[in-house]
Amino acid sequence: YSSNGAFRPGRGMGMGRFGTGEKVKPASVAGMFGRIYEHARREWPAIAAAIGCVIAISLLEFIVPQLTKYTIDRLIPERRLGELIYIGGGVLGAAVALGALNYVSSSLMASIGQKVLYKFRNDLYRHMQSLDVSFFDRNRTGDLMSRVTNDVSILQQMISSSMMQLFTDFFTFGAIALYMLWIDWRLTLLLLATFPFMILTTRLFGRRMRSSFRKVQESVADVSDHLHNSLTGIRLIKSFTAEDYESERFSERARRNMDANIRVVRLRAAYEPIIDLLNFLGLAIVLVFGAWLAINGEMTIGTIVAFLSYLRLLQNPIRHVSRIINTIQQSAAAHERIMEVMNTKADIVEKDNADTLPPVRGHIVFRDVEFGYSREAEVLSRFNLELEAGQVTALVGSSGSGKTTIAHLIPRFYDPQAGEIEIDGYSLKDVTIASLREQIGIVSQEIVLFNGTIGENIRYGNTNATEEEVAAAARAANAAAFIEAFPGGYDTQIGERGVRLSGGQKQRISIARALLKNPRIVILDEATASLDTESEQHIQEALALLLKGRTCLVIAHRLSTIRQADRIYVLEQGRIAESGSHDELLQRRGRYSQLYEMQFPQPGPAI
Ligand code: ADP
Ligand code: MG
Repeated sequence: YSSNGAFRPGRGMGMGRFGTGEKVKPASVAGMFGRIYEHARREWPAIAAAIGCVIAISLLEFIVPQLTKYTIDRLIPERRLGELIYIGGGVLGAAVALGALNYVSSSLMASIGQKVLYKFRNDLYRHMQSLDVSFFDRNRTGDLMSRVTNDVSILQQMISSSMMQLFTDFFTFGAIALYMLWIDWRLTLLLLATFPFMILTTRLFGRRMRSSFRKVQESVADVSDHLHNSLTGIRLIKSFTAEDYESERFSERARRNMDANIRVVRLRAAYEPIIDLLNFLGLAIVLVFGAWLAINGEMTIGTIVAFLSYLRLLQNPIRHVSRIINTIQQSAAAHERIMEVMNTKADIVEKDNADTLPPVRGHIVFRDVEFGYSREAEVLSRFNLELEAGQVTALVGSSGSGKTTIAHLIPRFYDPQAGEIEIDGYSLKDVTIASLREQIGIVSQEIVLFNGTIGENIRYGNTNATEEEVAAAARAANAAAFIEAFPGGYDTQIGERGVRLSGGQKQRISIARALLKNPRIVILDEATASLDTESEQHIQEALALLLKGRTCLVIAHRLSTIRQADRIYVLEQGRIAESGSHDELLQRRGRYSQLYEMQFPQPGPAI
């Protein structure tokens, strides 16, 4: 677990585990439509208008073969030349009206699709934000990203295009089947006898299709995850000249995506000819049985011609259904992936009757705390620690001894499996999360600044702060000078599209942000570990201000930064090995003095 958080080559590349690790029930197709309905319900006027268009389309499609039938059976035998012009006009008019109706209904459905997409995406994002830190430990960023982008837009495409087709087909099929039954039920029943086979084929393929689509989407997630990791870690890749290695790993994932897609295409390619075969069977039935009826004088030629046109209209829905089923299967797979996130509940939740934590003095007690990130690996066992209010407590220890873990338990990023953590006598579990985190400021080695201006990043600590307050915080953090030297000052963009800041500059901005928050409790987690000595000098001054008058937990890599701590705890494999003041610990000549001498080979620097 590298502390810059950007590049974690060791992490499993398999499917992310969700929630508490229990298997999530797959969302059904019905469940998907249920949720779409929930999201689309408020769009009912647009949906009603679109369905109105669809009914009109079905009627028009029904009318055109009737014109053909009328022409063949009446106009031609009766030589009614003058009326042909009306037939021509009628067909043309129907075509124009069909075009217009299709336009209106498609654009209505497209915008409904977009609105549903918007709601799905917002819900998903909001829900993800509400989940615990451990959820993000367990799941790969790129995979989560592809759920919010790729999977949601697959759903949208289905709503925008396929649902429309489905409606149209449903009405056309119904109207035509009823009419055909009325004209000649024997012929129609013969035709309909081919349909169960079509439905069976479709079901058979549908199930395989869905699992193939799921593989496609998972491979998209893999590609996206690899992309995310390698782009954020590009400097590391360059420094190890691992470009070829990474390209190889990328192409492996891209190939899995290609293979998965090819499987889908092959399935579809096998499906369509089977459906075509059944379609031709229908055609043969109408030709042979229809001609037999006509020869016996039981059916007119015009009716046979109309039947043939209707046959096409009747079969179209089935053909489409294959494609739509595809899309629906694909969407069901996407919906499943979305619901896996939506169904994950946060483990760290407030009690219903949680109190607001009043402004604290900051007396923090860990009592018999048991904690591990997983059941197998215990990090803290029967751990006890007391931080005095208003004092600086330092934690030192080799890396992996559990220092960051202790720091992360205070704002409840994780909950201990057993034991209690209290602030001023309030158990963390009894107070609201917001009122707790509001009072804690964390500055860590891993500095996160968002894309935006410097001012916006500082104001993250308190969105209501005035410009003067932001500037004051920057001044206190020793950051004002370099910020004001930028032409844009506090409005300078940082990040991808703005200036690049040095590690020390970023750190000072993050300190300004913490100062602006004015928390009661401050946690410094190796805040100066990645800085050079000169930057550290600047930052020490800023930190001294941040620490003043607050309860502080200082985790330091360099022992020079913790000499002033009121009390120092030496941590070894999740246990306190020693504690005392700097001088006491040095005199004890235990672990602390060992660590100290490793950093400052004798003669020790003057204190
Ligand atoms: P320190 O900050 O003292 O270097 P940590 O508290 O980060 O140590 O880590 C303590 C132990 O917990 C280590 O064994 C580490 O591998 C493990 N650990 C830390 N963070 C996580 C995490 N997010 N998921 C699983 N294990 C973790
Ligand atoms: Mg750490």
